[in-house]
Amino acid sequence: MDSIGKKLRDRKEKKLHQHGKVIWMTGLSGAGKSTIAAHLEEALYNHGFLTRVIDNDQTRDGLNRDLGFSREDRHENLRRVAEVAKLFCHTGVVTIVSFISPTIFSREQARQIIGESDFVLVYVNASLETCEKRDVKGLYKKARMGLIPMFTGIDSPFDIPDKADIEIRTDQLSVQECIDHLMEYILPRVEYNE
Ligand code: ADP
Repeated sequence: MDSIGKKLRDRKEKKLHQHGKVIWMTGLSGAGKSTIAAHLEEALYNHGFLTRVIDNDQTRDGLNRDLGFSREDRHENLRRVAEVAKLFCHTGVVTIVSFISPTIFSREQARQIIGESDFVLVYVNASLETCEKRDVKGLYKKARMGLIPMFTGIDSPFDIPDKADIEIRTDQLSVQECIDHLMEYILPRVEYNE
């Protein structure tokens, strides 16, 4: 960002009385990313913050509707999401990104695009067994039947994050406990102190 852009960001953050950040949530399908994103947004909103959630359902229909599920397209999907998240972040918005984002490559690409100081990587962790038992959308069942090729955790790998800023175990904690834990980490990073 040039110095004018930087000054304008500062002024926008001052106006909103908050700091822009990208809270990037990674984890298996069914780990709890959407649930946590929705509750986190509500908790932040209740504290007076302006937020934005970006998830797969919204972006696959519009921004990324030309993309499929090949390796290249999945990376491109996440690259575009990172670019959009950066725009929100530079406007001072606390931006919550909820995507499986299974590869270290894609997460590191996002970190690079967004910038280290604006990027918070959250590992939403539940065992594959738990996710499969939850099977919120019936996708694991379909994947096991061979109806969804390259399903993360079944026949496509999920790289365990080695650089997560925070990990939440949704198979061990309640939603509220996860949110409390996250808020403790996030609040001091988005609060604006004059
Ligand atoms: P994802 O977005 O990662 O695919 P979802 O949020 O759609 O996952 O589904 C997670 C499921 O797990 C939901 O049915 C949710 O109610 C349940 N769940 C149980 N405990 C938790 C928890 N601590 N955090 C998040 N979700 C939880």
